[in-house]
Amino acid sequence: MPQLLRDDFLPFSRPKLGEEEKRAVLAVLDSGWLTTGQRAREFEEMFRSYIGARYAIAVNSCTAALHLSLLALNVGPGDEVITTPFTFAATGNTIVHCGALPVFVDIDPLTFNLAPDGLEKKISSRTKAIVAVHFAGQACEMERITALAAKHKIALVEDAAHAVGTEYKRIKAGRFGQTGCFSFYPTKTITTGEGGMITTDDDALAKRCRQLALHGISLSAWQRYSDKGQWFYQIDEAGFKYNLSDVQAAIGIQQLKKVESFIAAREKYARLYDDGLHDVDYVQVQRVQPHHRHSRHLYPVLIDASKGPERDVFIEKMKTRKIGTSVHFIPLHLHPLYQRSFGYRDGDFPVAERIYRAIVSLPLYPSMTEQDVGYVIDSIQAIARGGC
Ligand SMILES: *Cc1c(COP(=O)(O)O)cnc(C)c1O
Repeated sequence: MPQLLRDDFLPFSRPKLGEEEKRAVLAVLDSGWLTTGQRAREFEEMFRSYIGARYAIAVNSCTAALHLSLLALNVGPGDEVITTPFTFAATGNTIVHCGALPVFVDIDPLTFNLAPDGLEKKISSRTKAIVAVHFAGQACEMERITALAAKHKIALVEDAAHAVGTEYKRIKAGRFGQTGCFSFYPTKTITTGEGGMITTDDDALAKRCRQLALHGISLSAWQRYSDKGQWFYQIDEAGFKYNLSDVQAAIGIQQLKKVESFIAAREKYARLYDDGLHDVDYVQVQRVQPHHRHSRHLYPVLIDASKGPERDVFIEKMKTRKIGTSVHFIPLHLHPLYQRSFGYRDGDFPVAERIYRAIVSLPLYPSMTEQDVGYVIDSIQAIARGGC
């Protein structure tokens, strides 16, 4: 029987916000204190405790978190920072913002994370840091990567934008690097509209990140509009305007209370996809590695064009069936900036390029229903039978 088309479009992603978030935002508006204050402090304390870190610093994006982490680790001109090409603009661009050279390592074809074997070959006397991206919400091989960083005395930053709740050998993402950088962009596991968090155990890094996030102004001025504050402040260095507002933090507090139920819903839907796509020849799903807890931020599949449609055709067919999908990621070395400024070329990272040409992310989020997941599976099966 031909599959019936649904009436409404199933978006690739949609945040789950409820009455709690609405009430929390209204309370902040009524309070008269909108910028960074008590709610931001409370969100930091909750997040710090969830991850198990000593410090959490709320910022206005994961991009800001990455930028401040690298600056606080003294990454600057002449330095090299090693990362994966299979990531979002923010990971590479923040390295460029520091004046450092982004050095890419090709990815593992199973996990799509940077491959530790390739990593060691790229370490030079100029290497200042590694940025490990936990792709889709599955951690990198942190045992080997932390050992390499320690052996060569280089800093490790985790781009944990996909990895709120991710675990490697029962340890949470964000606990491995000198800093962990999280995103609360609307497609991510929890959202504040826009927002981010830096976690760290290091006193000095925490202090420096906090100061750089607010113009480089010395910390005693932090509360200068409360009754504990004072009017006097000093600018120690040219910092940034990267703080998270209390309006956003109030949303974050409510979202973080729900994070485990969100991940549970994602896990359930991921299992439905795993089972439903098992017999579909042209689709290969991502396997969860042993000793990992995958946050299921993304559900990426590989489309084998020799057994089914080309990936781009698949995306169009899904759109015709009113299903939104997305591609994560166009490898950074294929973008004009990285080719022009750093001499990267097509062909430099063959695994990342091969995966990029085959990969597509299916809708996976708690605000979709089991029926939605079933509809996506039916559609993929219908396409296998030659449907449009
Ligand atoms: C979303 C994302 C970021 C940036 O997060 P923002 O909060 O939007 O700045 C960084 N790295 C990766 C891998 C991402 O997917």
